[in-house]
Amino acid sequence: MHEGFETRAIHAGQDADPTTGAVVPPIYQVSTYRQDAVGEMRGGHDYARTVNPTRTALEACLASLEGASHGFAFASGMAATDTVLRALCRPGDHVVIPDDAYGGTFRLVDKVLAPWGLTHTPVSVADLAAVAAAIRPGTTRLVWIETPTNPMLRIADLTAIAQLCHDAGALLCVDNTFATPYLQQPMEHGADVVVHSTTKYLGGHSDVVGGAALTSDEEIAQRLSMHQNSMGAIAGPFDAWLVLRGVRTLAVRMERHCDNAEAICEVLGSHPRVLEIRYPGLPTHPGHDVAMKQMRRFGGMVSFRVEGGRRAAIELCNAARLFTLGESLGGVESLIEHPAAMTHQSVEGSALEVPDDLVRLSVGIESVDDLCDDLRGALG
Ligand SMILES: *Cc1c(COP(=O)(O)O)cnc(C)c1O
Repeated sequence: MHEGFETRAIHAGQDADPTTGAVVPPIYQVSTYRQDAVGEMRGGHDYARTVNPTRTALEACLASLEGASHGFAFASGMAATDTVLRALCRPGDHVVIPDDAYGGTFRLVDKVLAPWGLTHTPVSVADLAAVAAAIRPGTTRLVWIETPTNPMLRIADLTAIAQLCHDAGALLCVDNTFATPYLQQPMEHGADVVVHSTTKYLGGHSDVVGGAALTSDEEIAQRLSMHQNSMGAIAGPFDAWLVLRGVRTLAVRMERHCDNAEAICEVLGSHPRVLEIRYPGLPTHPGHDVAMKQMRRFGGMVSFRVEGGRRAAIELCNAARLFTLGESLGGVESLIEHPAAMTHQSVEGSALEVPDDLVRLSVGIESVDDLCDDLRGALG
């Protein structure tokens, strides 16, 4: 635990294989384990929904990186989110969610968990007074925060919101997908649970879908363990192995994502057709001071508004060549998308609607000059 982040990314949970000395945890593609006598299992390995060594390695590594004592790996970020919400809430409870929550999280809460009996209030998580007003002491079980948010890259003050939550007897759960534990560690600021879509930066190569939940609270960990095993939305061994492979290079990738995003912001900042840049690293960003307090650097996601409205934004997305037109984010390759027509189409007309002249970039780790040239070309 006292070792540095990069060391833990490479070694936590990843001791050499005891039988062969393999330096990388093998893919345990297995469903069940031989017992030496009835009830005598080796290291508690009984059935692979409950426990799988490849998954255990990933869970230990991710827990270490977030400064948590318990980790749980899931089949997707949404599986992690669903398991956390059902494990920690009961029908009749209330949750607070970001008014620009990840679309799938909003859909889960609105379409799946509302009929189950969970009520929710969307608020701007950058507005502390609004978060405070939305928390109903005694009824609000949990506040769900993303920071930076998607796609507006708003910043929530983790320490202040953790305080509000705990004063009201509510839990704080942070979806840390955009920042990653390399840039931001919500548990240090009082979060009770951290959730990830490992599909994004943790996997980092756009070749796997996965999720995770981390906590240091024993009671929460027991509930998550029980629900993970009961609902069964576990990460498979190959997927766990791929995420673990990605995590080993997280620190170096994130540094380059940040470098490249900063260079892209300079190109955008000097272009006459760009109306507004949303990047928490810019002093003009309304959340910059809070971001400075809780983030190491500011990540690879950049959103901006372009002159000419929806049509111009879509044309720009279509014109980019090196920036691949596509949803998702966090891979080594750069992606561009039009949230209003793509990732955020389903929230049109709702409180979560995004500006239709907004373009979102997931800035990858290609040669920065090539990325800048591509964007200049697409902007015209
Ligand atoms: C992608 C994403 C999710 C959902 O994760 P999946 O792995 O696609 O299920 C949740 N939160 C954020 C912030 C995301 O970007």
